[in-house]
This record gives sequence, C-alpha cells and structure tokens, in this order.
Amino acid sequence: MEWTGRFVELGNRPAGSAQLRRQAQMIVENLDRLSCSVEVDRFVAATPNGAKPMRNIVARFGAESHSPIIVISGHYDTIAAPEFVGANDGGSSAALLMVLAERLDRAGREGVWLAFFDGEEAIVEWSGGDHTYGSRRLAQRWAADGTASRIGALINVDMIGDRDLDILYEGNSDAALRREVWDVASDLGYAAAFRTNLGYVQDDHISFLEVGVPSLNLIDFNYGPLNSYWHTSQDSLDKLSKRSFAIVLHVLEAFLQRRNPAQ
Ligand SMILES: [Zn+2]
Repeated sequence: MEWTGRFVELGNRPAGSAQLRRQAQMIVENLDRLSCSVEVDRFVAATPNGAKPMRNIVARFGAESHSPIIVISGHYDTIAAPEFVGANDGGSSAALLMVLAERLDRAGREGVWLAFFDGEEAIVEWSGGDHTYGSRRLAQRWAADGTASRIGALINVDMIGDRDLDILYEGNSDAALRREVWDVASDLGYAAAFRTNLGYVQDDHISFLEVGVPSLNLIDFNYGPLNSYWHTSQDSLDKLSKRSFAIVLHVLEAFLQRRNPAQ
C-alpha cells in the first residue's frame, strides 16, 4: 500500500510521460539497493500517436545462468487521462513487485526474475498492436537470445490490490500452471479470492505464451460494481486493501518454494 501510494502521488503515468520516467527512477533506485542485477531496457515504440520512448525494468535474483527461471511480472504504466492515477491498474502490480523484490533479497532466492513492463495500456485504443508494447518487446528479445526456453513459468499480476479480491480463472493462461497456482492458493485457504469463474483477458502474459513460455495471468477484472472503477478516476488508493496484496504475495512465495524447495 505504501509503494502504491508513492506511485499514485506522481499522478497520471502514461508511457512516455515525465511522471512514468520518475516512477522508473524510483523503482531502479530501490532495486539497486538489493542483491539483484538490474537491467533497464530502453526502446522506442511505434504507436498510433507516433514514436514513444519506453523502458522495461528487469531484476534478476541469483546467477544469470540459473535455470529454470521463474519470472514474476506486471505493468507499471497507466492509461493516459489527467484525472486517472491508477492505484490498482498500474500501481498495484508495480508495488507488489517492489515488495516481492525486498522479500526475495532477504530470502536469498535464486533463479527468480522480476519484470516491470512499460506500455501495457493502449495509447489510443486496444486493437491491432496498440497495447502490451513492453512485454512484446521483452518476449521477442528473450525468444531471440534463447532466454525464453529457460523460463519454467511466468506469472503476470495485474489489478491485484482490489479490497474485494476476486481473481479470474484466466482462460488464455497455461492450464497446468494455472492449476498449480490455484492448488497453492486453495491449500493456503484463499479459495474465496482465487475463484473458478473462467474468463479471457488480453494482457502481458499473451506475449510470452506466443513464444512458448508457460504463462499465467493473475488479474482481478471485477473492480467495483460492474467493474466501474476500472479505467476511471475511481481507481484510487481507498479502493485497495493491504490484505489483497498479502494474499497474492503469500501465494507467489509458496509457489516459488514449491518449485524450488531447496532454497
Ligand atoms: Zn488497464
């Protein structure tokens, strides 16, 4: 909640904005204090509104050569709208990764990479290629350099701060990975938050599914009455709860432990 608050204070944070550049600096400054290696991947995306500078941030815990790699990802940009601060959509995913980074550092975990995506949101309209710029860029790079084949699982988080946590059983996701994570959640007593209502959402995980990485999207796409807080000025800090962040963190950490009990 603290990290989300800091990001929200920056205001609206669309791709290419000074506010998002400031947020990226905050993320990198804090990751630099931890035991991970930090890569800022700058690129220029061709959007319907022209070329926009974007940056993905990747934090690698443990030796670069560690295999298989587990990637936990989320976007940190918001839609462009002056009154939109994106507490949940953009804020919560980036904030959760910040806390997870601190916890991975303390636990001395290896083979876990965190990816912060720029440009998830559409610049004009979610159609054609006008979305998920950062994740498509990274997926293509990782497919080209062989990294993709070393990734055992990628779990993307999006809009997970909603105080009424209701995570979709997302249908595009890798079925075996989804089952595994839902089993972890159920064992921990979180079946009420990890629902079995199937729904299909286009999100950053698709970019990695397309290059053969088993990928899962954890998204609560039921935000306020009839999803009315989504992409509106209602997406503010008061709609979130620290318990929702704690549940998702607990499930992710238990999943990492199950995948690599030796650590
Ligand atoms: Zn969004």
